[in-house]
Amino acid sequence: MLRAILTLRCPRCRRGPLFTGVITMPERCASCGMYYEREHGYFVGAMAISYGLAVTLVAVVFSVVLWVTKWPVEWVLLVSGAAFLPLAPVCFRYSRALWIYLDRRIDPLDHKDR
Ligand SMILES: [Zn+2]
Repeated sequence: MLRAILTLRCPRCRRGPLFTGVITMPERCASCGMYYEREHGYFVGAMAISYGLAVTLVAVVFSVVLWVTKWPVEWVLLVSGAAFLPLAPVCFRYSRALWIYLDRRIDPLDHKDR
C-alpha cells in the first residue's frame, strides 16, 4: 500500500494513476473504473491533510535555514515560504492520495458503484 501511495496509484487496484497531469485528477480509475471523487466536496478532507503537510514542510525548512544561516526570523520565514512554493503541487497530490486511502480504509464501499 505504501508503494501505491508513493506512486500515486488507485486505492482499489493500485494500478491506475490518481493524476493525469500535475494537479489533474480523472473522474474514474483508468484500470478498474473506481470513482475517485465519491461525492461533491469529497476532497475537502484532503485540504486538512494538505495544511498539515505544508506547515510541517515549512517548519522543517524554517528550522534548517534558521540553524544554518542565523538570519533574522523575518528573512528566514520569507525564504521558507518561497522555498515551499515549488512543493505546493507535490503537497496537493499527496494530500489527496493520503485522503483517498484513509477514506477508503474507513469506508471501503463505493457508493457510486452500487
Ligand atoms: Zn483502480
